[in-house]
Amino acid sequence: MLIYLVKCGGRGAYICKDIKCLEKVQKSKRLERILDTKIPDEIYEKLRGVIFDK
Ligand SMILES: [Zn+2]
Repeated sequence: MLIYLVKCGGRGAYICKDIKCLEKVQKSKRLERILDTKIPDEIYEKLRGVIFDK
């Protein structure tokens, strides 16, 4: 299961619907590089909510 994230303007990235993957991505700031934008912690919190709300 994947979550697709899109930046306003079109660029997007997939992450796994998996808390371990989300934490890895948050630590490595991989999404910020792919989307070329700053991602605030509250966005990661929302993603956590999405992952746990099965
Ligand atoms: Zn993954």
